[in-house]
Amino acid sequence: MQRRAPLVYLYGVVKGWYRPTWPVFVVHDDPARGIFHIAVDDPAVLADLPMTDSGAGVAADSADEGRRRYITVSTQQRLHQSAFRMRVLRAYQEKCAICRLRHPELLEAAHIVPDRDPRGEPTVTNGVSLCVLHHTAFDRHIVGIRPDYRIEIRTDILAETDGPMLKHGLQGFQDEMIHRPRRRELWPRLDFLEERYERFRKAG
Ligand SMILES: [Zn+2]
Repeated sequence: MQRRAPLVYLYGVVKGWYRPTWPVFVVHDDPARGIFHIAVDDPAVLADLPMTDSGAGVAADSADEGRRRYITVSTQQRLHQSAFRMRVLRAYQEKCAICRLRHPELLEAAHIVPDRDPRGEPTVTNGVSLCVLHHTAFDRHIVGIRPDYRIEIRTDILAETDGPMLKHGLQGFQDEMIHRPRRRELWPRLDFLEERYERFRKAG
């Protein structure tokens, strides 16, 4: 902290996986409690840092502080989101819970209780791994997941006639079971599913 040395922070996403973030600076130290705080900064500041250990230069002024606070908060959000996605995809063996598509680049972690809700924590039991089509369909209440883990397609969509995507990509999954994680404790929480399903029913 005294040297104002830029560091690399390795954020643990899942066991054995880290996401590096830099530069970070130690901005507060509490040796009695064994705690220190770091703030993330813009990589552009590295260009202005003196290449010595003397720590002579760069006193953090309030502009630095404000910028670091902002970057730190947005970095935290990004890291939490990417950790959520990775944990959910892993739990579902990188498959869409509805159609079982196995392409991670087309998979996303959907929240059951939305993340803007105070209970909408980024935990695996509040998530489902879905492909981009089924994620959007789930968020727009075209597809619902019943608390018995069966898929329900909105009534008006079921009655439509259109091409193969509608038929196979949506209607064909009516009453099918979603694919769930191997570990029972990672399955979606029933109270979350019930609440979400209620909203799906009202939307229909
Ligand atoms: Zn899918």
